[in-house]
Parts: sequence; structure tokens; C-alpha cells
Amino acid sequence: MAKADFKVPELQEYPEIPALVEGTMAHSKPFLSKPEFQAELGFPGELVDGWEGKAIAKMGELLGKYRSFQVYLDSCVKCGACTDKCHYYLGTQDPKNMPVGRQDLLRKVYRRYYTFAGKYFPKLVGAADLTREVLDDWYSYFHQCSQCRRCSVFCPYGIDTAEISMAAREIMDSIGVGQKYCNEIIGKVFKIGNNLGLPGPALEDTLEGLEEDVLDDTGVAVKYPVNQKGAEILLVTPSADFFAEPHVDGLIGYGKVFHEAGVSWTLSTHASEAANFGMFIGSYENMRRVSMRVREAALELGVKRIVFGECGHAWRVAYSFLNTLAGPWDFLDPNYPVPQHIMEFTWDQIQKGNLKLDKSKNDDKVLTYHDSCNVARASRMGDKPGGQFDIPRAVIKAVCNQFVDMPADTIRESTFCCGGGGGLLTDDLMEVRVKGAKPRMEALHTVVEENGVTHMAAICAICKSQFTKVLPYYGMDMDQIVSVHQLVSNAIVLTGQISEEDEGEAAEEEAED
Ligand code: SF4
Ligand code: SF4
Repeated sequence: MAKADFKVPELQEYPEIPALVEGTMAHSKPFLSKPEFQAELGFPGELVDGWEGKAIAKMGELLGKYRSFQVYLDSCVKCGACTDKCHYYLGTQDPKNMPVGRQDLLRKVYRRYYTFAGKYFPKLVGAADLTREVLDDWYSYFHQCSQCRRCSVFCPYGIDTAEISMAAREIMDSIGVGQKYCNEIIGKVFKIGNNLGLPGPALEDTLEGLEEDVLDDTGVAVKYPVNQKGAEILLVTPSADFFAEPHVDGLIGYGKVFHEAGVSWTLSTHASEAANFGMFIGSYENMRRVSMRVREAALELGVKRIVFGECGHAWRVAYSFLNTLAGPWDFLDPNYPVPQHIMEFTWDQIQKGNLKLDKSKNDDKVLTYHDSCNVARASRMGDKPGGQFDIPRAVIKAVCNQFVDMPADTIRESTFCCGGGGGLLTDDLMEVRVKGAKPRMEALHTVVEENGVTHMAAICAICKSQFTKVLPYYGMDMDQIVSVHQLVSNAIVLTGQISEEDEGEAAEEEAED
């Protein structure tokens, strides 16, 4: 069990709605972004003079730009349906982590400055001035929302707290109050091309290492190309795929699938990152700047298709915004979706019978599947409703014999966030990450106990990193989280692959000689 300097919630046999504990997470605040990171993104370096008026003006600008923002602020009837739906409330018991409580932190200021009743009878309508105390609350609690949209599924008006959270972060950035983790990372993408600041030569070395590993394991020369002009497919994948576990095992799997499909593909050092943290800070301008790198790489390399690797929010940005942010994509092959998800690609190859799969290679595992929130509630896959739930499960079942779903109220559109999404995957937020993971850990624990599940698969880089870190806090092992394409990689039998039997026979012959 990992040690914590906070109380790790106990997993319960049956999920319970916890009692309220006011202010219990008020101390949780991520590190502030340094002035140099702010400047890179076009934001003031520190809290500006006259910040109150500037924040209110920024709120007015967003209300004018995004009608949904105003509708969400106006339409809550305090019905309470969302109150027990947020994993951060369930894990922390703090009422300001109830979706409606979180929204009201901003709504009360909106009412004060932008509604008639709030201007003249503030107390009657719960309106409040924007003070330093309110700003501190915003910084704390809008960084305890992973923008997962679970609450919006249960709200009768479809109020999306994620959008309110994004707007709050954008207002704070505009007055010089940015979050270090997100803003530093976005700056790295602008300078180097990926979140981790991995330079081109390091990337090339890693990919060469993967080629050697696959050759040693299988006897087949599978290529992991980078900056290959004229390749058919540009793969845009999270940079964690280049080195982190279990992400890299997924990247090995993508390469094997492309190899067997007989398509040429390439990575790009210019767009060596699928993640787009511009979304987390609610900044469409920064989201656009990151997305433009994908367009520039596609044009430079002359590819015909774009495929995204296993990354939840990257797929949300790609699926929902790539066309408007960086399109038109009229130079790509119109016979394929723009963009396409690697799960769609692999499922298509499986259906066409292009992949030889030996499911028994995963017989040491009983799998379950974690629907990543961004994939589940902010995107689709394939050409049928629900494809984002069905296609990953279909791929897992095609490569594994043993699969069990977690309880129905914790999967598909009701899935719980891993606890580390929305720009919270940083060590300075470990307490809220661990506590926010509780509902997913509870659901996983249920199928571990009742069905003998040994591993949970995911298609999101943040989920994989988060679970690797938090599983030990709940008495489970960090390697119980696996990439879906890691399972594909285990099962795929490459054309010309040396089988274990062949290896055994060769060893016997060598011994006889
Ligand atoms: S979007 Fe997700 S994290 Fe944010 S309040 Fe709703 S349920 Fe909680
Ligand atoms: S479910 Fe919707 S309307 Fe009801 S309290 Fe929550 S945000 Fe307001």
C-alpha cells in the first residue's frame, strides 16, 4: 500500500453517498504558473492590477462568445440530481466538489454583475462580489474538476460543469493566475513539439530501440518510422507512448498492426504529441496553436491519412475540434475519416481478417475495461452510436479470452473519470487525484473480488499514468493497468514470426549439432 500524508478513503462494498465535510479540500491548490510560462501562452505573468474589473470583463467576453456558457449559468434549478455524481465529491466529501456547488462559485459572481436581480438584490439571489477569497476558491475548486462531463449526463438541463470549469480557468489565466502544470506543458509543445520536451534525436533513439526489441522478440523487422515523407498515415500519439509503461507497449502494438495491414506510416517530431492541454485551460487560441502543428506535419510529410493513438482528451479535441481549429483537410484521402482513431483502424483490420490473432497469449489475464471520460462523453468512434464503447470492447474480446465489465453504473456514458484528467495529473494535486479515483477503484475492486479480474485496460495516456500511480494507494498493483494495444501486441502473430515452438526446435537442433 502506498504511503500518503492524507487519509486515503476506504473502499466500500457498495458505493455510498458520503456525508458533507465543508471546506475539507480548500487547501488543495496546484502550483502557480511562472511568469515565463504565462508569457509563452499570451497571458499576463502575474496577478494584474485591477484584476477584479478585468476578470469581470473577461467573463462578459466569454458570455458573448459562448452562448452555452450563459445558458448553463442561467438554467440551473437546484434540483440536486448532480450532487452525488462527481467522483471528486464522492472521494473528498467537500460540497464545493458537488457539480452544482462548483458551478455556483462562478454563478454567484455572474449573477452579481450580469443579472438585474443580482445587481440590485444580491442577497436574495445568492449573488456575490468577486473578492480575493472568491478568486482563491476558484483557483482551488476549478482545479478539482477534471472536466469529465459525468454530471452533465445526469442533469435534466444538460448543464456541463466542464465548460464552466474551462471558462473559469480562462478568466484566471487572463488576469495572470495560471496553473503551472498545464501552462508549462503547452509551452513545451510550442517549443519542442511534445509535452515531455523530448527532442527529435531522443525520439529517434527510442523508436530504434523499439525496432530492435520487436525484432528480438519476433524475428520480424517491424519499423517505427519518424519524419518519413510520403508515408500514407501520420500517427499522432501522446508522448507518454514513447517511454512510459504501459503506454509504450501500446505503441509497439500500433506498429505491429500497421505492419500487418501493409500500410506505410510515420510519426513526426514536429507533431510528436497528441495531447492538447489548451482544452484544459479553456483556451481555444492555444488549442488552435497546438492543433496547427498536426496540420503542418501532415502537409510537410505529404501523408494521406491521420490516425490518433490512445489518448482520451486528445481524441476529444481531435474528434470535436480538429476540423474547425486546423482544417480544411481537403488534401487528405476523402475515403477515410479525418481524424481516425487507432481503435477504429485496428477494428477495421480485425473485421477484414487481416490480423492473425492468438487470444491465448493473454490467458494469464482476466480483463476489464475503463471507459475514459473524454472518449465516452465527448466523442464517438465508428459509424454507429455507442461505437466509442463497443469498438474498444470488441477489440479486447478479439484478442483476449477473458473479459468482464465493471458495474453498469460505472461504465459507458456513466463512466467515472480516473481522477487525474483535466490537467490534474501533477504530484502537487496527489491528494485530490487519489481521493477522486475512489469510485473507479471501488468498481474495479468489485470485479477483482467477484470475477477474478486481474487487469484493467484503457485507451487514455492520462488514465494509464494516473492508475499506475493511484492503484497502490488502494492496495492494488501499478501494473494492473494495461494499454488495449498492448493486448493486441501480445496476441498478434506477425507474418513470418518465429513461434515459441520454432524457437524450441531450433534450440534442440543446435544442441544436437
Ligand atoms: S465535469 Fe466531472 S469533475 Fe467536473 S464537476 Fe462534473 S463530474 Fe465533477
Ligand atoms: S442537476 Fe443540473 S439543474 Fe440540477 S442542481 Fe445540478 S446543475 Fe442544477
